[in-house]
Amino acid sequence: MNIIKVLAILVLIYVSYRIVTMFRGMKSPEVRAYRVNETPKGEDLVQDPFCKTYVPKSQAYVKEIDGKTHCFCSRECFEKYLTEKK
Ligand SMILES: [Zn+2]
Repeated sequence: MNIIKVLAILVLIYVSYRIVTMFRGMKSPEVRAYRVNETPKGEDLVQDPFCKTYVPKSQAYVKEIDGKTHCFCSRECFEKYLTEKK
């Protein structure tokens, strides 16, 4: 009987843990929405010519330099790329 009691308690702990995590997930839709936007399915990745990092096209810092479109991961990389180019 003791083992059954222990098992019942473990199941109860597991179920309450699942309920708590489910509830937390429902309480923070902003965080989840942000994560979904960060890696959209099937989106093209573009390479930052300065730091060689791949970023999703929608997140990229796009600039046209000498008639060519360059996609940077951030404004800092764009500025560093320009200063190194000179
Ligand atoms: Zn970069």
